[in-house]
Amino acid sequence: MEYLDYLKILQNDIHSVVLATNDKNGHPVTAYMDVMYADEGGIYFLTSRGKEIYRRMNCNEYVSLSGMTGSDFFHSTMMTVQGKIRNIGNSRVKELFDANPYMYKIYPDEDNRGVIEVFQIYEGQGEYSDFSVQPPVRRQFTFGGRELKRSGYYIEDGCTGCGICEQKCPMRCIAKGTPYLINEENCLRCGNCYEVCPAKAVRKRGEDNE
Ligand code: SF4
Ligand code: SF4
Repeated sequence: MEYLDYLKILQNDIHSVVLATNDKNGHPVTAYMDVMYADEGGIYFLTSRGKEIYRRMNCNEYVSLSGMTGSDFFHSTMMTVQGKIRNIGNSRVKELFDANPYMYKIYPDEDNRGVIEVFQIYEGQGEYSDFSVQPPVRRQFTFGGRELKRSGYYIEDGCTGCGICEQKCPMRCIAKGTPYLINEENCLRCGNCYEVCPAKAVRKRGEDNE
């Protein structure tokens, strides 16, 4: 799947997400937001100038969001995105209303809509997880030119082939080899392999100088 496929899942399947920003004291605050649109330029939200979330999105260069579909964990897909946000004014308000006609019920008159502006996450990295399949699938993606910062675990050359990690892995996603190999797409990131490896050959990306 391409990055735009994941952004379209956010728009069409998940749609309502929890958006995290910082307040003026630097404390995290979350808000429910609807993903109004997604295209090659990123992810788009609408909000009105009177709302606190408007002020926070204007003052924050970075935001983070999470959303999910499904009735329970084993029927769910989840998405997280961290990225840069900016206010792009009101030129696309009508286009976003047309893509989400329920907005016309909330703001029925054109006069009411003058207070609405569009915010765009224009660069970022995301992670998509599908727990409705076995084994679960986890994939990372970027957009807007962001370089992928990988997370999770991998095994390096110091592996002695003892097989302890393979037995301890709940996802059975570690394969024999020299060294053993983690299928990262199915990895839960539980850390069992990391904790049990007697050779310290399991490494955590981003924390072990990877
Ligand atoms: S526990 Fe460590 S040394 Fe043993 S197979 Fe797994 S990675 Fe290799
Ligand atoms: S982090 Fe957990 S799920 Fe991932 S390979 Fe290690 S033991 Fe398996």
